[in-house]
Amino acid sequence: MKNSELQSAIKRAFEIWSQVVDLTFSETNKTESADIIIAFEGIGLENIDFGNREMKSVNQIARTIETNGKVYILFDNMKSWKYVQVNNWLVYNELDFVYAALHQIGHALGINHHLNKVRRNIMHSEYLRPSTKDESYIWPHLQHDDVLAMRELYGAYESINLTESQENCDEYWSHLDFVSHYNLTNKYYILVRGVLNHSEVQQYCKNFGGALVSIHSRWENHFVQDFMKENKVSEALIGLSLKNDQINWKWDDNSEVDYINWDKNEPNHVMSSEYLVEMLSHGRWNDVPDEHNRVAICQISCEEKVLPSGDPNKWKKYAPEDQEAAKLLLGEILVVNQTGN
Ligand SMILES: [Zn+2]
Repeated sequence: MKNSELQSAIKRAFEIWSQVVDLTFSETNKTESADIIIAFEGIGLENIDFGNREMKSVNQIARTIETNGKVYILFDNMKSWKYVQVNNWLVYNELDFVYAALHQIGHALGINHHLNKVRRNIMHSEYLRPSTKDESYIWPHLQHDDVLAMRELYGAYESINLTESQENCDEYWSHLDFVSHYNLTNKYYILVRGVLNHSEVQQYCKNFGGALVSIHSRWENHFVQDFMKENKVSEALIGLSLKNDQINWKWDDNSEVDYINWDKNEPNHVMSSEYLVEMLSHGRWNDVPDEHNRVAICQISCEEKVLPSGDPNKWKKYAPEDQEAAKLLLGEILVVNQTGN
């Protein structure tokens, strides 16, 4: 692997773990200040054939050791490592670097091997070539047990003070660092990390009177995309899902589906399980099966959306860019006002 690929691969692996809990990792080239040091070494183990889907011990290809207060992640330099990217897939006898890095970072953060036999778990003791039986590649993802193990060590969702959030709604939500407010929609957007599955996070949002986020304009979509970017999140679950009829999409807050932003060739219904929707880093949407996303976005409105009427230029409390957006939305706003008055 080239140095630049190696850096990207390591960055990607840390990113995947940081989606689960609020830990921030940053790169340093100063060995003294580093907590985790990543290097290659000649482990000198027998040459193992990794071409088939047979499992091999992950510790035969890389290992994590702790010495003098520092954690070392060491990859065997005799192996053929690959940083898998689109159109640069894993070929026969290559090892998936991100997969192995995820496993070793898990150890570095204090997680032991899972004792159960779910082979897809990143923290399973044996390396499993990340592909389906017909050899199509599967991007390495943290599985249910991996997330649970991490949450046990570093805590689960942010705890919300229900009494305070109800009594003093705006005051409460506007002071939290995992929350952002958009004055055009008057909603608070809440980042939830370490999501196990759809129903759990749905219940979490519901508990404080919110719902998974619904998106109704490209400005709102842009806002959510920026919110993800600020928090270094590359994909997050939003509130759209397929109804029981498996034909119609619905928002978690039951608002009208009046805006969509599917990525090219989406939704593509890859698996026949219940469909959920994630926003990708470029802002477009992709349909996904449950337990795919480790980050979700909830929303809450402290009061019913009250939109001003008349000339948007006179809406002094709105920023100029919001006024511009509102002007374009004006048709919609006037309709809201008519029914609201
Ligand atoms: Zn291990």
